[in-house]
Amino acid sequence: MGLLSQGSPLSWEETKRHADHVRRHGILQFLHIYHAVKDRHKDVLKWGDEVEYMLVSFDHENKKVRLVLSGEEVLETLQEKGERTNPNHPTLWRPEYGSYMIEGTPGQPYGGTMSEFNTVEDNMRKRRKEATSLLGENQALCTITSFPRLGCPGFTLPEFKPSPVEGGASKSLFFPDEAINKHPRFSTLTRNIRHRRGEKVVINVPIFKDKNTPSPFIEAFPEDEEAAKASKPDHIYMDAMGFGMGNCCLQVTFQACSISEARYLYDQLATICPIVMALSAASPFYRGYVSDIDCRWGVISASVDDRTREERGLEPLKNNNYRISKSRYDSIDSYLSECGEKYNDIDLTIDKEIYEQLLQEGIDRLLAQHVAHLFIRDPLTLFEEKIHLDDANESDHFENIQSTNWQTMRFKPPPPNSDIGWRVEFRPMEVQLTDFENSAYVVFVVLLTRVILSYKLDFLIPLSKVDENMKVAQKRDAVLQGMFYFRKDICKGGTTMVDGYSKAQNSTEQAVEEYTLMSIDTIINGKEAVFPGLIPILNSYLENMEVDVDTRCSILNYLKLIKKRASGELMTVARWMREFIANHPDYKQDSVITDEMNYSLILKCNQIANELCECPELLGPAFRKVKYSGSKTDSSN
Ligand code: GLU
Ligand code: MG
Repeated sequence: MGLLSQGSPLSWEETKRHADHVRRHGILQFLHIYHAVKDRHKDVLKWGDEVEYMLVSFDHENKKVRLVLSGEEVLETLQEKGERTNPNHPTLWRPEYGSYMIEGTPGQPYGGTMSEFNTVEDNMRKRRKEATSLLGENQALCTITSFPRLGCPGFTLPEFKPSPVEGGASKSLFFPDEAINKHPRFSTLTRNIRHRRGEKVVINVPIFKDKNTPSPFIEAFPEDEEAAKASKPDHIYMDAMGFGMGNCCLQVTFQACSISEARYLYDQLATICPIVMALSAASPFYRGYVSDIDCRWGVISASVDDRTREERGLEPLKNNNYRISKSRYDSIDSYLSECGEKYNDIDLTIDKEIYEQLLQEGIDRLLAQHVAHLFIRDPLTLFEEKIHLDDANESDHFENIQSTNWQTMRFKPPPPNSDIGWRVEFRPMEVQLTDFENSAYVVFVVLLTRVILSYKLDFLIPLSKVDENMKVAQKRDAVLQGMFYFRKDICKGGTTMVDGYSKAQNSTEQAVEEYTLMSIDTIINGKEAVFPGLIPILNSYLENMEVDVDTRCSILNYLKLIKKRASGELMTVARWMREFIANHPDYKQDSVITDEMNYSLILKCNQIANELCECPELLGPAFRKVKYSGSKTDSSN
C-alpha cells in the first residue's frame, strides 16, 4: 500500500516540522521526472494485477477461525524462495497493512497480446498455491475483502488484547497493535494519522436491521470517552486504521503508451470505478455484525481520515490552511485530460504556491492542479535517514505524498531513471473468493481499456455525479437496486474531443442531456434504445480480434460472470455471504455473527476458493480447466 522506507520513523511532531521540506522537494522531484519523460512514448500497453490475501487458521474442534499474524514470516520466505533466488520468478510478494496479510502480483507485467488474458488465472493460482504451501496445518490463504469478526475478542492467532493506551499506535478498543504489520511504516502511519487528527479515527457503519436486531441498536462504551462520544446509534462503531486498511482488494495498474494516454485512461476509468465497485461488492460484515453496506470503501476512507476538526469544517480555521472535503482515501477530485476539463465541477482545494510553481515550469493547468491538490496533504511518515535526498535521482518525497493519497484512480509518473512508463492504477475493486472471479474482473477492466482506446469511447460525466455514484455503489445490493449516472452517448467522445474542449464550461444544460440514471444491468448488458452496454461492446471488439480459441473461451467465460452478476442471475460475494449467514442454523436474525457462524462461512469460502465444492449461485456452472487442491485445511471437518 505504498512506499516502504527503512530506518528510524519520526513522530508526528517531528514529521510535521519537515512537512514543508517534504512538499517542496517532492515537487522538485516530480518536476525532474516530468521534464525527463514528458515526451516519452511507449508503444505497448503493459499491465498487472495486485491481489491482497489474508492468512487464516481454522480451529475445527472449537469451530473458530482466526487471522494468523505470520504475514511477515510468510512474506520473507516467499521473497527468499522467489524473486531473490530467481529474477524471473513468476510471482512477486509484498507486505500489506495487516500482520495477517500479504499481497501478490505477477512476476512480470502482462503485455499487449490477447493470449496473455489466458495466463492471468494460472498466475493467480500459482500465487495461491505458492503461499498456501508455506502455511501451517489448518491454515489457509483467503481472498476475502473484510474478515467478518475483525476486531472481535480473540480474532487473532496468537491472541492479543487491544491496549487502548496513549503510547500505542491505534489506541483501539478492539484492534490490537500486534495485528499491524511489523514494518515501522504501518504503525507509524497509524499513530501519526491519529496524532494529526487529534483524536482516534471514527468509523460508523449502519447496521443491517433484521427482525430481532435491537432498535435502536446501541453499544455503550463507558470505559472510553472518545468512543462513547463518537459511536452513533444504529451503527457499528470502529476506531482503528486496521478496520479499513486491514481489508483486502483487487487492483490493476496499466502502463500507457504516453502521458496523454495515461491521462485519458485515468479520466475514463474514474467514471467506471463506482460501477465496478458495486459489481465486485464483497464486504457486508464488520466487527461481528451484519451491516447495511456491501463495500469497504467508506470504511477505509474513515479509517485513515487524518483531517483535523478545522479541516473537516467543525471549527474555524486557525492552525490549518484549508477546509478539506474528503479523506485522503477517497474518490478522485479532478479529471486530468483536456476532454475532462468541462466536467471538473468539484471544488478543488489546492496549494496555490505549488500550483503557480508548476505552471511556471510549463506544466498545464489540469496536471498542475492535480498535483497541487495531492500536495495539500502532510506527509504521514518520515524516516530520519531519508530527509535529505538527491531530487534529480530520487522520488521518495514525491511518493510520500502521492502514495498516501489513496484515491479510486492513481496517476503514476515513472520512477526516476527507469524504463517504466506513465501508469494509472484502478483501485476500487473488492477482492473475490476465487482466482476465476478475480481474473474475470481484472480481464474485464483491462479489455475495457482496450476498447476505450480503440473505439475512442467517452464515459465522462460531471465528476460530482461520479461521487454520487460512489455513495450509491456501497449500499446493500446496489448492483441490483442502485441507479447510477452514466453517459448516454459514449461513442462521440473521440471525434469531438477538441471541440468539447473549446466549448468547455459554457453549458450545464448540455451536460444534463449527456447523462442519465441507469441500472448496472443497463450499463453492463445494455438496454434497447437506451444504452448499448459495455459487455456487448466488448463482445463485438472480441469478434474483430484475432484470438486463439482457448483464450477466447476463457475471456467469454469471464465476461459471462460479469454479465450475470450485473443482471442478478448470479450473486455478488456480498449477497452470497448475506444469504449464507441468514440461513445459518445459529443465526438469530439479530445481525450478530458468532464465532461459529464466522467459522462456517470462512471454511465454505476456502472450499470454494480451492474448488473443493461448487457454488453455482456465485459462479455459475463450473467450467474450470485446472484442478488442484491448494489448501492445507482438512475439508472433511
Ligand atoms: N487494502 C486497501 C484496499 O482495500 C488498499 C491498499 C493499497 O493501496 O494497496 O483498498
Ligand atoms: Mg496493496
